[in-house]
Amino acid sequence: MLVVQKYGGTSVGTIARIKRVARRCLATQRQGHEVAVVVSAMSGETNRLLGLARRIHSDPSDREVDVIIATGEQVSVGLLALAIRALGGDAVSFLGHQVKITTDSAFSRARIRSIDAENVRIACRAGKIAVIAGFQGMDEQGNITTLGRGGSDTTGVAIAAALKADVCEIYTDVDGVYTADPNVCLTARKIERVTYEEMLELASLGAKVLQIRSVELGMKYGVPIHVRSSFHKREGTWVVPEESSMEHVEVAGVTASRDECKVTVFMVPDRPGVAASIFRPLSEHGIVVDMIIQSASSEGHTDMTFTVPRSDVGRAMQLLEVHLAELIAGGAHLKSTEGLAKVSVVGVGMRSHAGVAQKMFELLARERINILLISTSEIKISVVVETKYAELAVRVLHDGFGLDLPPAARAPTA
Ligand code: ADP
Ligand code: ASP
Ligand code: MG
Repeated sequence: MLVVQKYGGTSVGTIARIKRVARRCLATQRQGHEVAVVVSAMSGETNRLLGLARRIHSDPSDREVDVIIATGEQVSVGLLALAIRALGGDAVSFLGHQVKITTDSAFSRARIRSIDAENVRIACRAGKIAVIAGFQGMDEQGNITTLGRGGSDTTGVAIAAALKADVCEIYTDVDGVYTADPNVCLTARKIERVTYEEMLELASLGAKVLQIRSVELGMKYGVPIHVRSSFHKREGTWVVPEESSMEHVEVAGVTASRDECKVTVFMVPDRPGVAASIFRPLSEHGIVVDMIIQSASSEGHTDMTFTVPRSDVGRAMQLLEVHLAELIAGGAHLKSTEGLAKVSVVGVGMRSHAGVAQKMFELLARERINILLISTSEIKISVVVETKYAELAVRVLHDGFGLDLPPAARAPTA
């Protein structure tokens, strides 16, 4: 088999842990497999580097910030390759550009365009363990880029896809994907199998155990992903295609994403083209807008509300003030609200079960948690609440939907 293993920051957080990872990589190789390993920076390192950069400059999407924060992974690949050699194995490290991980030029959030994994393949066939730096790539002009927080997951899955590996194992500090963040919800349970679709929603709605782009790539190229603990050998969670034989749980998991902001444009004329004029400048500047609500129009005017991540709200407001100058002169005005969180329930079984939304609203109402915005899709329901209620909401929904029980013991909603 060809196995790709990705180790997160906590798993390589100390020299003792790096040595342990080295032993695990060698044990896998000694079972007769070819092994390529992707590693993150040691835990805390990316934040430390980002902190240094921020003391000088506030724009995290500057080219030089990527030059700085990509170094964390360079240190860990070197250390892990040395640790493997110290144990009598053979290993060679690769930085992003050495495996031609080519990306676009969106610094701090670059997307992978192509990978040439030939060097890795040659190393693995020669009995070496290839140790590849996660998180980093190079654009077509040769600039160093990074793939966004959690991006080493995406490097791992992308390398697995390029090598047509049999599995991509994501080693982390929890036992797998849980029904809610196990560090927030003590009754959360490990999920045995989750579909790519559910995992996409969970990842995009706050479950940072996998970066969303890694799940997109896994789904596109059919890479089996196994999320598991680097601290023991037990099975973790398999991310798999949806099979008809799978038991379709109604709600697979509950997530929260903090740091959401709400922006409202009041009193815009209710005519064709207005929504386009509000959202065009935002999308042209790469600002991802989430929930959008247009209120009922009255006397030819309406209000438009949407959410954006807190990191983008300043820029969004500036852009809107410039691009909507004409509307503002005509009486429209803008308001942003911070301190919000989006809490979501996700599950493919929602397609065939009515009443999930109703039950969600009742569970929140019972705790007197006020819902500010609602959005639904086929397999998820999200609500925006004040951040101070986020953890309570997660716990109440989690246990309210019976996720503290094994799947077979859960009562269906309707
Ligand atoms: P790594 O450094 O290994 O990449 P991360 O910190 O990026 O690890 O991701 C693992 C963390 O994700 C866990 O410690 C946990 O707190 C968090 N997490 C959030 N939601 C979930 C979930 N549904 N299942 C598992 N972990 C989750
Ligand atoms: N080191 C990067 C981060 O902290 C990438 C990763 O760990 O996945 O976000
Ligand atoms: Mg991570």
